[in-house]
Amino acid sequence: MYQKPKGTRDLFGKELRRLEAMNSAARSFFGRNGYEEIRTPSFEFAALFDRSIGATTDIVEHEIYKFEVSKKLYALRPEGTASVLRAFIENRIALPARFLYICSMYRRERPQKGRYREFEQIGIELLGESKPFFDAEIIDQAKRYLDLIGARDYTIELNSIGCQDCRSEYREKLREELKADIPKLCDDCRRRFEKNFLRIFDCKKETCQAVYDRVPKISDNLCTECAEHYAQVTEYLNKFGICYAENKKLVRGLDYYTRTVFEFKHGGLGAQDTIIAGGRYDLLMKELGGPDTPCTGWAMGPERLLLTIPEDLPALNAKEIFFIAGMGERFVGDIVALRNQIQDGGHVCMVGDPGESIKAQVRKANRVGAKYSIIYGEDEEREGYYTVKNMDSGEQRKIPKNDFVSFISETKGS
Ligand SMILES: [Zn+2]
Ligand SMILES: [Zn+2]
Repeated sequence: MYQKPKGTRDLFGKELRRLEAMNSAARSFFGRNGYEEIRTPSFEFAALFDRSIGATTDIVEHEIYKFEVSKKLYALRPEGTASVLRAFIENRIALPARFLYICSMYRRERPQKGRYREFEQIGIELLGESKPFFDAEIIDQAKRYLDLIGARDYTIELNSIGCQDCRSEYREKLREELKADIPKLCDDCRRRFEKNFLRIFDCKKETCQAVYDRVPKISDNLCTECAEHYAQVTEYLNKFGICYAENKKLVRGLDYYTRTVFEFKHGGLGAQDTIIAGGRYDLLMKELGGPDTPCTGWAMGPERLLLTIPEDLPALNAKEIFFIAGMGERFVGDIVALRNQIQDGGHVCMVGDPGESIKAQVRKANRVGAKYSIIYGEDEEREGYYTVKNMDSGEQRKIPKNDFVSFISETKGS
């Protein structure tokens, strides 16, 4: 027997239907807002991610799947942004550009609940806009999408991590402040401080966090331009009617972020509570050899988000499954016409073998997860109705053929 590799999953049935409903809601919502879908390869030259994500982050150090073919080193994509920018530069696309991506990412993380080595991400990128209004736009996009699909009880955390100038000044100030506390910090933090210092604030250890509670924060040490930019982002968020909390210890795990960073969190998810993460990354395009271009974007983990959304949410279960159980070959023409009518109404419809007994067909209807079985035989044909059985409640009723169209259109997902 073959088994799937550790940290992967087979997606099917209701789980996949819900995931696909989220994806199609994303395509239609972000499409209406000008974010056009882009698909980049699942693998790129490894150098792209080394350059963009930074050779010092945990992702590059431990988590990227790399493989060599004919002396060329490739990597499965661990996130979407670097590939989108590479594609933008390579295809000489005009600015401003708005992109949506929906695809699998690959990371060799330790498998744990809700974390997989192949996982999906939905993300948007807005390239070529530097003004704070557009930082607010992408946060607003995320919020409206979450509201559309029925997500509840999430919170938004916001911070600014400044530009290279204010960061290098702040770094020296922080080094001075931390001097006495260095022995109290964990090995990871000491290492991070030298390579990628803002990431110390991500440390999960309480002893480290106790130190970081006391030290000055980057958002209180911004240069004039960065401080003004941040103030305007918060003003726009207020104008958009978006509630958020400032979290001065919020930094992003990737090196290329500048100024605005934000996370959407959901309390029901335990330690892995981030459902959306993003911000501004004005330095990355140039780093990758493109024109000096300000960019903002975020990525969402739809699988983790789905854990917070009720099973029976109508927006994510738009389709019902119907099963037609016909009594006898001579009704095949009627049955096929009925099937087409149901499918044209946007539902799933399967047809049983009309040579089998009704009982056997209804049993199959049950096994394929049908919500309704429609029985059609001599009586139904003669008197012009369908017998519709609700498979959940067992309730059975006769619906005249003429009323069937409105029954179909009134039937919404459970
Ligand atoms: Zn600055
Ligand atoms: Zn630490």
